[in-house]
Amino acid sequence: MPPERADSAATSSVPFDLIVIGAGINGLGIVRDAASRGLRVALVEKDDFCSGVSAWSGRLIHGGLRYLEHGEIGLVRESLKERERLFELAPHLVKPVPLLMPFYSRNKRPALLIRLGMIAYDVLSFDKKSQTHRILSRSKVLSRFSGMEKKGLGGAALFIDGQVEYAERLCVELAVAARADGAMIFTHTEVTDLIVKAGRIQGVTCTDSETGNTVDLSAAVVMNAAGPWVDWVLGNPSNVARDSAATTARKRLIGGSKGTHIIVDPFPGAPNDVVYYESQSDGRLVLVIPWMGRYLIGCTDTLFDEEPDSARATGAEVDYLLKETNVLVPEANLTIDEVLFTYSGVRPLPSVPGVPEWKIPRSHIIHDHASEGQKNLYSVVSGKLTTYRQLAEDAVDITFRALGRRKVACSTKKLPFPGARVSDLKAFTEKFLTNSVVPRETAQRLLAIYGVRAENILALVRAQPELGERFDANSTAITAEIVFSVETEFAKTLTDMMARRVLLAFEPEHGLAACPRIVEIMGERLGWDEQRRADEIEQYRTWLDHLAVPGRQLPVNVPVTEGSS
Ligand SMILES: Cc1cc2nc3c(=O)[nH]c(=O)nc-3n(C[C@H](O)[C@H](O)[C@H](O)COP(=O)(O)OP(=O)(O)OC[C@H]3O[C@@H](n4cnc5c(N)ncnc54)[C@H](O)[C@@H]3O)c2cc1C
Repeated sequence: MPPERADSAATSSVPFDLIVIGAGINGLGIVRDAASRGLRVALVEKDDFCSGVSAWSGRLIHGGLRYLEHGEIGLVRESLKERERLFELAPHLVKPVPLLMPFYSRNKRPALLIRLGMIAYDVLSFDKKSQTHRILSRSKVLSRFSGMEKKGLGGAALFIDGQVEYAERLCVELAVAARADGAMIFTHTEVTDLIVKAGRIQGVTCTDSETGNTVDLSAAVVMNAAGPWVDWVLGNPSNVARDSAATTARKRLIGGSKGTHIIVDPFPGAPNDVVYYESQSDGRLVLVIPWMGRYLIGCTDTLFDEEPDSARATGAEVDYLLKETNVLVPEANLTIDEVLFTYSGVRPLPSVPGVPEWKIPRSHIIHDHASEGQKNLYSVVSGKLTTYRQLAEDAVDITFRALGRRKVACSTKKLPFPGARVSDLKAFTEKFLTNSVVPRETAQRLLAIYGVRAENILALVRAQPELGERFDANSTAITAEIVFSVETEFAKTLTDMMARRVLLAFEPEHGLAACPRIVEIMGERLGWDEQRRADEIEQYRTWLDHLAVPGRQLPVNVPVTEGSS
């Protein structure tokens, strides 16, 4: 599929029913739902799918025990229902994981409160297939997680939630599904203006970052799903005070809150389960999460008013996370030297002046701008990875109302992800591993990332056996994945490929040594000259700053050599 460009769509005299701004989980969910209900829809994204906060999350598909504390019962119920749906609709990507929540005598939340929370969690997910929670005695907890601090330990609650190790792939597959249903997808295209005439939205002005061309796209309805950039798209000054009374501009919608994670290799005493525990220093809940063979530890929660893409881990945040991990696992003795990389994202929470960030409601809001003289323009505020589908359903229902058309029923509750379109995934997996033409560990990787679409990648290898070649010494990824991503998954840059398709960005040494080979393969298909290939590698190195460890230079000093395959 050749990359689509906004220029060609701009020449059409038929306006879109809906333009969605932003290809995070929420924008993609909306586009996928709208396309499946027959709307003429376009997605405009300034960078790539999942290049915003959707990539910088804890990657849990969870009911949100924390929200129970704040009485957000509706949100917990919705999250638990959506979690169950994702287990069914994307089983190759969203997996059940055990979570352990220890009871320490020092905890601010008494054990009884956690037990009651657990009962409520089970009641609210009464229709789930996974096991209900269990309360483990001290000795049972220690036999499961022997490295944990014993002092003051009374026992733990054990329950099941969900994890999506590759949130990026969830987003890519939503785009693939939407495109198959007729959506137009324009990545690396930034919305620079909203076109409003006579009090009504008419479309957007956008610029293709590759060609530099600026075009107007017309639409009857526009959904601003730019996550933490929502106010930027609306043209609100970035420095609008959080107290909306202090601004002469439109009311600010987002009150960004930064969350940082650190990533470390397996360490002495590390748990096998996700551990969700109360920090010693401030009583916040901290998670130690097994992730891609390593540990993702997070997260922090601090006000953040700057450009969301500039969010980076600070030394204080890293120290906090290391200290709390060492309290939980005394033999870990983690220091900043063990931190492989970090990442930070800005939660697109609603701006609620005067309310501390941990108390801000987490349910999504679809803000209607009609009263501000912009009829049929809507902005999405908040929303989690877990609940994107319900948010999308609500947004598309609103779109039908705005269009004045009879609503086509939403079907996404039942639509499997492209990588899960098979009646029996287990049987498929067994057959795939038996008949595979690539080594077993590569076959396992393909299944974990692409689900049943792994078969399409193997078809490429069968047609051209050299596409079965590995190109990175640290990974079992094969060349066919690169070809597949360019041809069917809208990968347009090396960073798209590394960070959101083959995911080598999160592997040891960030796949840097393989970059020359990857740009060669991509360049052959996308017509890149030598200069463009060199630029792509440079831009990827620049992007790696998102993973920087404070006080240490990233990218790590890996020599980039030709022909590293
Ligand atoms: C630390 C942290 C941990 C979290 N953990 C979890 C968790 O475990 N589970 C969970 O369910 N949720 C979690 N969340 C919440 C969740 O990640 C976010 O709420 C969700 O990803 C928001 O998605 P989005 O699509 O609204 O925003 P984004 O993913 O940021 O997408 C917005 C997109 O808009 C694009 N854009 C911006 N401006 C423009 C423009 N002018 N033109 C075109 N495109 C534009 C951006 O490039 C971006 O791709 C966490 C969040 C954080 C910060």
